[in-house]
Amino acid sequence: MEKDVFCKIVDGEIPCYKLFEDSDVLAFLDIAQVTKGHALVIPKKHYDNFLSTPDKIMHKVFDVAQRIGQIDIQFLGAKGVNILTNCYEIAGQTVNHFHVHVIPRYEKHEGFALEMKAQTNNLNLPVIAQTIKDNL
Ligand code: AMP
Repeated sequence: MEKDVFCKIVDGEIPCYKLFEDSDVLAFLDIAQVTKGHALVIPKKHYDNFLSTPDKIMHKVFDVAQRIGQIDIQFLGAKGVNILTNCYEIAGQTVNHFHVHVIPRYEKHEGFALEMKAQTNNLNLPVIAQTIKDNL
């Protein structure tokens, strides 16, 4: 199977602006900076997305994402940060290797906007809640 682009970065076949590395996790600047300092944090080992990543590794990835978000505010002048991970194509995932976006926010209307519109149709909330609850 063809290696995905992040496996190639881990293996040093594609360059990146590296921010952090240990035995399990790598963080680097996103090649398409939606805002200044937009970073990606990934597990070095390949997992398709957040949902299929073992919890220990997933926690390590989020620890690094948290630290980078704190640094964005303390040192880059960000006023806020979006932490985002897309799972599967329908949710916007384009690279099939678990990654967390850390997107510093400086102004209200800049490169990144996450629009959450409430649905107008009637949803059966008791049934939805029960389905999730029963399977947790
Ligand atoms: P997603 O759409 O959530 O799967 O995000 C994938 C991200 O990977 C995008 O923001 C891309 O800009 C980024 N990306 C793709 N190739 C590279 C690369 N070679 N170096 C750094 N970031 C990359």
